[in-house]
Amino acid sequence: MRTKNAARIDAQERAHLAAVKSVPCVICDAPAPSSAHHIRQGDHYTTVALCADCHQGSVNGWHGQKVMWRLRKFDEIDALNETLRRVLNLRANAYAAAPAAMPWLTTCEEESHVD
Ligand SMILES: [Zn+2]
Ligand SMILES: [Zn+2]
Repeated sequence: MRTKNAARIDAQERAHLAAVKSVPCVICDAPAPSSAHHIRQGDHYTTVALCADCHQGSVNGWHGQKVMWRLRKFDEIDALNETLRRVLNLRANAYAAAPAAMPWLTTCEEESHVD
């Protein structure tokens, strides 16, 4: 379904949605590509990375009986938090690989990094 806001998606929003779709499903860890579930239509930064089953599945999915969500003990905010954690980790890794490509990020994460 297309909303009036869908027409106004800008380049950063498009890039964020692409990043969300590039992380594994936050409910069952099925590998990417995931779909991006919008908590509110038209709000592209509050989107959740889900596989087809955890998204639209009639038994497991958010838009179904939410069985996998109950097993994982996740609501939409838990899922959003995990999606952002994964997207930001992806960004941090991309930065570590090619810092010159992301000059707006600082190096403070690297200084506190332990492994
Ligand atoms: Zn899933
Ligand atoms: Zn959805």
